[in-house]
Amino acid sequence: MARQIDIVSLYPKDMNIYGDSGNVLTVERRLALYGYEPRIHAVNQNDPWPDHADIILGGGGQDNGQRKIIEDLFRRADLLRSLAQDGVPMLMICGLYQLFGEYFETVDGSKLEGISIIGAYTVGRDVRMIGNLTESSEQFGTIVGYENHSGQTFLREHVQPLGHVDADGCGNNGEDHTEGAVVNHVIGTYMHGSLLPKNPAISDFLIRAAAERRYGTFAPEQNADMRDELARLDALAEHARAVAEV
Ligand code: GLN
Repeated sequence: MARQIDIVSLYPKDMNIYGDSGNVLTVERRLALYGYEPRIHAVNQNDPWPDHADIILGGGGQDNGQRKIIEDLFRRADLLRSLAQDGVPMLMICGLYQLFGEYFETVDGSKLEGISIIGAYTVGRDVRMIGNLTESSEQFGTIVGYENHSGQTFLREHVQPLGHVDADGCGNNGEDHTEGAVVNHVIGTYMHGSLLPKNPAISDFLIRAAAERRYGTFAPEQNADMRDELARLDALAEHARAVAEV
């Protein structure tokens, strides 16, 4: 029996920098190695929404990319909010993380309203926060990636950060050591990298949540080759993480 999992790649034309599309490829590959049938739907402005959306992945973008997609994002806001409430796993990097919050006031003083799935707001500053980033997360262990943003994000009190950055990293705002946010199955983060190839625990969280929601259970069906290939990918991730943590 084919067990399809539908992945929505949100705004790949305008919101996809520093290799964020690697997140889509990683989820696709791992799903196949778990014996699911991944289908990718690229959704840019004005594109139709697919019949199924089991995982939604969005990348980062320049301020002008964010301006380009904001109107379309608002048209889809109710849908995205109800999917988030219904437990659909989502991963939003940087520029889309900001727009999943309440608002982003850019460094030139203009204000982009967000769709408020994540209780957070962002204010641009003139010094960019750039560099490799390592953080510790209760849920996912050590997370490694790369950040490059001008926006400083502040979480509302009730919102759980994805992790806490070490002294060298900036994370959400360079002040409180938090990085990212987790709301239900929605993860927002400043981590580029790409994030998912290096952090299989997060990939598997998204995959498990999607399979359980659609099929009631996460039940890998793997032969020995698939298991070996997954182990090889995990070993590569371990290598990349070891390098990043040095
Ligand atoms: N334009 C946003 C900022 O500079 C997001 C950047 C990004 O996605 N890397 O804060």
